[in-house]
Amino acid sequence: MGFLGDSLRRFLYPPACPRCARATPGDLLCEGCAATVTAASAPPPPPGIDALLAPYRYDGAVRDLLLRLKYGGDRHPLAALASLLVAAVDAQALGRPDAAVPIPATWVRRRRRGFNQAELLARAAADALGIPVLPQALRRNVFSRPQAALSGAARAANLRGAVHPGDGLFGRAVLLVDDVMTTGATLTAAATAARAGGARRIAALVLAVVEA
Ligand SMILES: [Zn+2]
Repeated sequence: MGFLGDSLRRFLYPPACPRCARATPGDLLCEGCAATVTAASAPPPPPGIDALLAPYRYDGAVRDLLLRLKYGGDRHPLAALASLLVAAVDAQALGRPDAAVPIPATWVRRRRRGFNQAELLARAAADALGIPVLPQALRRNVFSRPQAALSGAARAANLRGAVHPGDGLFGRAVLLVDDVMTTGATLTAAATAARAGGARRIAALVLAVVEA
């Protein structure tokens, strides 16, 4: 957490399942916790997205770990989440993107946590695909409100104009990366901004999807 460096944490806490603390190699999920991970039922891409890969349900260990990462500011779950994401990455299904673009967090939220979890997941996916990450390609208004506090319609309104294109999008086939998809409004808003920035194709990779 925060100032406690990774090497120091590694020394104090040997590799363990980030959900139940049983010893595991590489901080991955233990067998019992991995069994709580369930496949999503291939949700259709939201408007503006050419191809979507959302492999897991927002449930079980995936949900527990994302909540820890998001609200606890604890990076320990990252290795397990990145490994799940990388296991599902499929360049063909995503239309062979040439750059990964994390959905941006507001500066305020990023500062509170010390990192943007979408960016950390984007780095893992990009490594697996052998493509660069463009962390500044999309930017978010400082003053947009946290999406989790808002209803579907309010989410769309909150995001309209809140995501802006930055540099490096022109002519690219981009892969938007985020942690959780609910209504898909966030991805649609990001896709609109990416197209405004000149992206020619937009795929999306989301670790988990909230299914009714
Ligand atoms: Zn476990």
